[in-house]
Order: sequence, then C-alpha cells, then structure tokens
Amino acid sequence: MTRATTMDLGSTKFVFVTGGVLSSLGKGIAAASLGALLEARGLKVTLMKMDPYLNVDPGTMSPFQHGEVFVTDDGAETDLDLGHYERFTSVPTTQNHTITTGKVYNTVIQKERRGDYLGKTVQVIPHITDEIKSTIKKVAKDMDVVIVEIGGTVGDIESQPFLEAIRQFKLEVGAGNAVNMHLTYVPFIKAAGELKSKPTQHSVKELRALGLHPDVLLCRAEREIPRDLKDKIALFCSVTPDAVFAGEDARSIYEVPLKLHAEGLDAKVARLLNLVDDGPDLSKWHALLDRIRNPKGSVRIAIVGKYVEFKESYKSLTEALHHAGYGLGVSVDLKWVEAEELEHGEGTAAQLADCQGILVPGGFGVRGTRGMIESIRHAREKKVPFFGICLGMQMASVEFARNVALLEGADSTEFDDNPRHRVIFKLRELVDVEELGGTMRLGAYPCLLEEDSFAHRAYGSTEISERHRHRYEFNQAEYRPRLEEAGLAFTGLSPDGTFVEIVEIPDHPFFLGCQFHPEFKSKPLAPHPLFTAFVKASAGL
Ligand code: GLN
Repeated sequence: MTRATTMDLGSTKFVFVTGGVLSSLGKGIAAASLGALLEARGLKVTLMKMDPYLNVDPGTMSPFQHGEVFVTDDGAETDLDLGHYERFTSVPTTQNHTITTGKVYNTVIQKERRGDYLGKTVQVIPHITDEIKSTIKKVAKDMDVVIVEIGGTVGDIESQPFLEAIRQFKLEVGAGNAVNMHLTYVPFIKAAGELKSKPTQHSVKELRALGLHPDVLLCRAEREIPRDLKDKIALFCSVTPDAVFAGEDARSIYEVPLKLHAEGLDAKVARLLNLVDDGPDLSKWHALLDRIRNPKGSVRIAIVGKYVEFKESYKSLTEALHHAGYGLGVSVDLKWVEAEELEHGEGTAAQLADCQGILVPGGFGVRGTRGMIESIRHAREKKVPFFGICLGMQMASVEFARNVALLEGADSTEFDDNPRHRVIFKLRELVDVEELGGTMRLGAYPCLLEEDSFAHRAYGSTEISERHRHRYEFNQAEYRPRLEEAGLAFTGLSPDGTFVEIVEIPDHPFFLGCQFHPEFKSKPLAPHPLFTAFVKASAGL
C-alpha cells in the first residue's frame, strides 16, 4: 500500500460523503448506515460532520430551523446528524467530531492573533484547509475507518474550503486509502414517465470542477433505478457501473443498512479501500428489522411539548421511544399534543384519554408549561405512566409541590423571577458556574441511584452516567424535605449529593422525571433502559 510521506495515519481509511442536487437526501443516514455496515465487518469506525455554516456551534441555532441540538458526552452541542452516527454505530462522538466553518475560522484567527503563523499571510489555502485536515486526523487515531460527512451541497460557496481540503487529503493519503461517496437525486418526472439522470450528471460535473472525482455514487430515488439507467449514469459520470447505487426510500431508517448491503455498497467500498472482504455479520440488524415489521401489539404515547409540529427538534426522543418499542416487540404510536392547548385544564383528560403513557420532554421558555403541568397532574392522579425529561422533570416537581405538598405559588425561576416557592432555580445558586465553564450544565455527569427505585430496576445498576443540557436545577436544600414528606422520592443524585437527577412517585405504575436527557444514548440495537421501562409500563407488559 502506498502512503504519502506527508501524513502518518497508520492504516486508517477515509470515506468522504458529499451531496449534490439538493439537500435533505439523507446524507447523514447514508453515512451512518455505511458506518454500521463497516462496523459489522469488525472494523473500528467513527463518523464526523463538517457543516459549512458560520455559527461556531449549533447550540444557539433555532431548533426550528436546524432540528435538534444533539449533546455528546464531552458536552458539545452538535448537529442532529451526530445522533444518527451514534445510533447506527458504537463509537461515541465528541466535540472533535463536529466542525463548522465558524469553528475553523475561529481557531485560525486565534492562532493568527497569537502569532502562530509568524507574520505570514493567512489564507483559505493552506491555513483554513490545513485546519480542516488536522481535525480529520484528530479523530482518526486508533480507527480503521473514518467517515466524514460534508454538510450542504456541492456548488454552495460555503462548502468550497471543505471540498478543497478533502481533495488535498485524498491526494496525501493516496489511492486505496480514501474514497468519495457522492449522494445525488434522480427525480421521476411524471409528464415524461421517466427517471432523470441529468441533475446527477451536473452535480458530478460540479464536483469534478473542484478536483474531486466520485468513487461511488449513491443516487436517491423514489423508485427503483433500472440497470440501464445506472449504466448511463456510470458512463456520463465516469465511474464503473458497479459503483452506482440506488438509495431507494426505505420504510424505516433502520432498513437502510440492509438495503445498501443488498446492493453491494459496503463490499464495493471495502474493495476500493483494500479492506479484507469477509462480509459483515448483519444478524442483529436483520433481527431488528424483523421486530420492527412484526410488532405483537401497539401502545399510544402522548408527547406534551411546545411547538410539537417541529418534529425534527425531538429527533432523539422519538427514536428512543421507537427503540424501546422494538426491544419490547410493540409498535409505539406517538400522539403529539401541543401543551398550550391544554392550558385550561378541562380538555386535558379528553385529549389524553386515548394515550397509555404521557411524556413531557425537554424545552426552554414559559410557553406551554401550564399545559405540561396539567398533563402531569392528569398522569399522577389517573395513574397513567409518566416520563418527564429535563423541563418535564422540573415541571413534575413544580406540579407535585403545588398540588400535593400544597405549596401555592411554587415555580421555576425560569418563569417567575421571584415565586413564593423557588422549587427550581438557577444552576449558579448551587455551584460556581466558572467551575462548569458556563451557565449551562452540559455533557455527561455521573448519578447514583437508590436501590429498588424505578430507575434502579430499569438500569439494573446503581451507578449511571447521562448527558445534560440545562440551566436550572432542583432546589434541594429548601424543598427536598417537604416534597419527600408529601411522597416524592429522590432516587437519583449526583455522587456528592449536590444535584437532584431523578424524582419518582413510588405509589404509581410508573412516574419518573429525570434532569438529564437519556434519549441521547438510546440505540435501535440497545434501547435505553428508562425508555424501555416507561414504554413497558404504558403497554401494560
Ligand atoms: N429550561 C430548562 C433549563 O434550562 C430545561 C432545559 C431542558 O429541558 N433541556 O433548565
């Protein structure tokens, strides 16, 4: 194997995933699926995302524009594609697995200010492109394959430095060590009754103008692409016919790895990268698909949240609920309930009557919180299984304080600067935020569980670690004794006892609120224990 002397990356191989024609083709799912297939061959695989926008990270971007903010163990607030990567593969992502143009420029400008470039003219090539290449090398350590997804579409002004960086990278690591998988769209034109290859040809032309040549084409289409059209695409795009794949729409995203494998995508990539081709063990994925397709029953869960029409901003949550269903062999039917519509109380029971479980997810801002509290009261009184996550846990504590411990005016200081009872208050009232590096508790924190609680029974362990993203906390010193006396159990605490992480009502089929976001760690092949316990209780299993 020939290696350029400029880079010493051991035997790590690289797959660069680019997209053309239009966005929303499912590049993230395609990259993650290829990751799953390569991992199923026993390879150590990691995935990273390069986003061409100028925001330094997606943490402050509107989830309505950008979908969910996914949180890693080390506290990076990232694009939701990192969630797909973690769900499809087993290597955890970190802040090094996500970069944006903003982050890259920020680093380069800081270096320039420090004098690192010794007064040289600082330019996109080589300084920005070098910085991009060095981020790829950072995640490559000990990996067999690194899959790098470039956000946006070829031809965007913003993507150019990233594409130039991959062009250089491919050259430096040499043939057989890096491939470019390009995703395009093959539309079906009704009037002509035909699938059209022209947009793909244009997009490849655009890519080649930038000095990149696709090694593999994945052509998304709503229907089967016939062999002769694949051959035509191969001819016009200058790839071999066996390098053109049709990424047809799948019923479940978890079917995508199997569909791509059936077409031979992973075998082709393995051949191009000179990887030993002894085929993947996909038995777990086949078994999963079988469970997805043949549920033994179904259960209806209400998600009571704010702006529930923006479902992309609840991506990990809905996936985690489905994973739990796959594990239990039931299909989970989600009913989205706009919390603001429940504010007046009377309609709550009617809106939630057909649901066997109620979930209040995380969120920011006062909007909808009255309705969330109404739904929690309904779940508590009518003994409907309840799961509150982050804001959901805080609202469950407020509901309990108001309606069971009879602390009138109990609230979170997020919604009322000076409530009669500050049950939930700012993080900085508990700890020095300088120590945490900000006003937000972000990333993984350990938590100790009380024996025989719902949480302990679910996890089967007394020590866990989960990811956080919030500014407010339970005011333990003032309110724990009073709420405990009224029947609320504090079953999960940080090891030093500072933070309340889980509250439960023991005298209930399932009532649990957690300050962390368990949904970020759920995978289809390893459903999260809390989601499993909640869905199980809801389904009456
Ligand atoms: N708004 C609440 C806080 O900042 C809850 C955040 C969340 O649900 N992620 O603490």
